[in-house]
Amino acid sequence: MPLYEYACEPCQSTFEVTQSFSEEPLKNCPKCGAAVKKLMSLGGFALRGGGWYTTDYKKTSKEPKGSSSEG
Ligand SMILES: [Zn+2]
Repeated sequence: MPLYEYACEPCQSTFEVTQSFSEEPLKNCPKCGAAVKKLMSLGGFALRGGGWYTTDYKKTSKEPKGSSSEG
């Protein structure tokens, strides 16, 4: 079963859900019912840009998380 990761803004948390391919993706948070955002898998994320991992990856210790709007 594939694992999907979602983020809920009101709950300020992420959670993982195992769903079969035939199932439709989760749309609402099971806790608060708000619309959730589907997160990219780590594998696909690394393919974009292609440069962040080459160097200086140790410097990024802390990043301002969830600064403003969604994007
Ligand atoms: Zn929620």
